[in-house]
Amino acid sequence: MSHRLLLATRNQGKVIEFRRILDALAPGEIDLVGLDQFPGLHDVEETGTTFAENALLKAREMSIATGLPAIADDSGLCVDFLDGAPGIFSARWAGKHGDDRANLEKVLDELKDVPDQSRGAYFICLAALYLPNGQSILEEGRFYGSILRSPVGDNGFGYDPIFAPDGLAISSAQMNAQEKDAVSHRGKALRAIAPKVLSALSSHN
Ligand code: IMP
Repeated sequence: MSHRLLLATRNQGKVIEFRRILDALAPGEIDLVGLDQFPGLHDVEETGTTFAENALLKAREMSIATGLPAIADDSGLCVDFLDGAPGIFSARWAGKHGDDRANLEKVLDELKDVPDQSRGAYFICLAALYLPNGQSILEEGRFYGSILRSPVGDNGFGYDPIFAPDGLAISSAQMNAQEKDAVSHRGKALRAIAPKVLSALSSHN
């Protein structure tokens, strides 16, 4: 029997990515429903001061609103030279939420005089599960690399075109979905949380 699990986001890109990764880890075991199934519910405001707080508050609020177990994540890019920025502001770094092009242009601009050896960065993902009984689980994944000098590649989203994974001579926007899932922050966080989600859902039902 598959377990119904709410993904607390209206971002269809994320729904597709979560479904793809969880299906590969536990085929047929999780019936992931997006917030699009609940017309009255909106994305939860990210009012936390850490990725962990934001992931947990999104999962908690939507689990309480629907009565379903809920999973959520908060993710972003942390640039060494910028002391970890854009960090939790990744989606709104240039002012407008989700303006990917403006966000990555701003990072490139801030790093325009920074030499290759000082362009280190990582993507981070905090994935949270919240159950109606108040139980919660949190797992983290990181994806290390460096910031390129101009955007390359059309796959992916956000900062992918300016991020070169360590040890690879391409940007993460030149990787296909399976290649990225195998090494990405979200892939790692979901691989860490998936077995715990399955065991929590089994005892919940
Ligand atoms: P969230 O919806 O608050 O988790 O926002 C995450 C933001 O971080 C996205 O809008 C992107 O700007 C950035 N981000 C997170 N993960 C990735 C990734 O895998 N590639 C590129 N950008 C990402």
